[in-house]
Amino acid sequence: MSLPYPDRTLYYSGSQQPSTSNKTFQTIDPSTSQPLANIHISSPSDVDTAISSAQKAFPSWSATPPIERARILQKAAAILRARNNELAEIETHDTGKPFSETSGVDIVTGADVLEYFANLVGGGGLNGETIQLRPNAWVYTTKNPLGVCAGIGAWNYPIQIALWKSAPCLAAGNCMVYKPSEFTPLHSTVLAEIYSEAGVPPGVFNVVQGAGDVGAYLTQHPGIAKVSFTGQVATGCKVAGSAAGGMKYVTMELGGKSACIILPDADLEQAVDGAMMANFFSTGQVCTNGTRVFVPKTMKSAFEKRLLEKMQFIRAGDLMDPSTNFGPLVSKPHLDKVTSYIKHGIETDKATLLYGGLDTPSWLQTTPIKDYQKGHWIQPTVFTNCSDDMRIVKEEIFGPVMSILAYNSIEEVVARANNTSLGLAAGVFTKDLNLAHQVIAQLEAGITWINSWGESPAEMSVGGWKMSGVGVENGRRGIEAWVRTKSTLVDMGGEVATVFAKL
Ligand code: NDP
Repeated sequence: MSLPYPDRTLYYSGSQQPSTSNKTFQTIDPSTSQPLANIHISSPSDVDTAISSAQKAFPSWSATPPIERARILQKAAAILRARNNELAEIETHDTGKPFSETSGVDIVTGADVLEYFANLVGGGGLNGETIQLRPNAWVYTTKNPLGVCAGIGAWNYPIQIALWKSAPCLAAGNCMVYKPSEFTPLHSTVLAEIYSEAGVPPGVFNVVQGAGDVGAYLTQHPGIAKVSFTGQVATGCKVAGSAAGGMKYVTMELGGKSACIILPDADLEQAVDGAMMANFFSTGQVCTNGTRVFVPKTMKSAFEKRLLEKMQFIRAGDLMDPSTNFGPLVSKPHLDKVTSYIKHGIETDKATLLYGGLDTPSWLQTTPIKDYQKGHWIQPTVFTNCSDDMRIVKEEIFGPVMSILAYNSIEEVVARANNTSLGLAAGVFTKDLNLAHQVIAQLEAGITWINSWGESPAEMSVGGWKMSGVGVENGRRGIEAWVRTKSTLVDMGGEVATVFAKL
């Protein structure tokens, strides 16, 4: 049977390469369960070859002047922008996210980051420092690339994650071997071709394909200097543990259970809009989602009333229709997981179901989706009267499931927001800016917003606290994760200080 997209092979030495495993799997359109393409699965020896192609490319790429690397990466960003809609369509089919979303966010925010790091290194952003010690002695530092780095991506923002990792990696003079999630691999070789077309030399950006075992083999490989990983906390712990065995650098972008705090004076419209963005954008499959929505007891009924009115604006439908703003979940296993959490919320946690629940077919009856049962659809769901000990409140669901928690005082809400092992994101809605800063300062999270949710521009360094991660991506700090420092002490005094002098 011919599939909508050509086979996705591996990519190394500057071109597509068939796998030597002779094994493939199919990637599926989550809205219909139709296969989209055959994906080649990398064997261990394919991963070895991809790494060795990167090792061969490293001496020349790392010695290329930053301004020349920048020129090439800027060209790649321009190609990405020119092909935005075509790439967005690929992402829509692979992830199930509406085209209205992928065409406005996924490629654009990836290209922005590529441009940002190209401009940063091209403008001297990788310079070290000079420290004068004495009149005739000083220290200077240089920032050096790490070598061959591994990028391992999650399925929710496939091309954006690939770009957020490869942009600073390549800009700093490293080479990368990238493994996308097996659930959303379509973008990976297309991105590799775009890099090649822009002038990125063969071996600088490479792609291997497959499931967790391919990622695990890549992570422990002695040829890898750093692992940049995006995924679940449990997987991140395994990956970081394996990398530690080889003393590799790591960046870990992991899960969250973030607090979205509506402060007592908040504008109701803004608070409801913010909470909806923090829970239903991308069908709730965003790492920074504010799934614990804390609302003052005095505002709870007004908040819920307005929320219920606005829930009608969530529109499932044909994913390419510009008015559709809600898609299916990414895969059948994920649909099963999210469904089991909703079931648990109703039956075991005994939270009050304010909207949605398990009867997705009835919800979809009002939409134009035909054969919806073939896709991984689930309706958006809101639980209220939740308490901190409920499983739906404690664990990352990674689906469109909001939990409303009522609170009495600022002190109480801060303590409850922080009462989690995760610390990815948090945010407050309020008109009182003094209070906003006071609360934000006390929240244990790496990414925070005031009167906004989810925006993550290239200039903003983002990374989780606590179990949500190690290190940051993007912003000026983001480039530091891809270099190591060499310090050199220069002494022009003529004599080496020694304790071994003649008495
Ligand atoms: P997973 O942890 O399941 O997978 C992430 C990647 O790791 C995939 O490519 C996966 O391959 C691969 N992998 C699986 N096992 C191993 C292993 N032992 N060694 C190396 N690689 C392995 O995460 P999901 O794909 O389910 O992504 C969702 C998670 O990602 C959520 O928790 C979300 O919060 C988090 N996330 C965090 C972000 C952040 O910036 N903090 C951003 C986006 C998502 P395969 O899929 O093929 O099995």
